[in-house]
Amino acid sequence: MDCIFCKIISGEIPSEKVFENDKVLAFKDINPMAPVHILIIPKAHIEGADCITQETAALAGEIMLAAKQIAKSFNLDTGWRLVSNVGEDGGQTVRHLHFHLLGGKKLATELA
Ligand code: 5GP
Ligand code: ZN
Repeated sequence: MDCIFCKIISGEIPSEKVFENDKVLAFKDINPMAPVHILIIPKAHIEGADCITQETAALAGEIMLAAKQIAKSFNLDTGWRLVSNVGEDGGQTVRHLHFHLLGGKKLATELA
């Protein structure tokens, strides 16, 4: 499948991994927008949050648990942000569900 993130999961494209279990992988964003900028993805290819079904919804919880653990490992004790862009208007450029975990500075509050 021609999906950058599936290639990162398979190891075909290298990445700086920070967390992995049987369902979820997390790695550093290649173009960081904050001192800590991690992408958290399900190992299953789901195109975006708009494609989550009853069968795959539990993966969103797995990603939340990973986010909490990763934030702790990067000492983001004063806060962090978890964001998922969806589709063209949401600014999604990679159609494999991913959450951006951002932190390490006081983040801007404008979301639109
Ligand atoms: P989106 O714009 O879809 O919400 O986020 C996609 C993110 O993937 C961007 O922040 C971009 O920097 C990151 N990205 C794209 N290609 C690669 C890659 O090959 N490796 C890594 N580590 N990040 C990537
Ligand atoms: Zn994929």
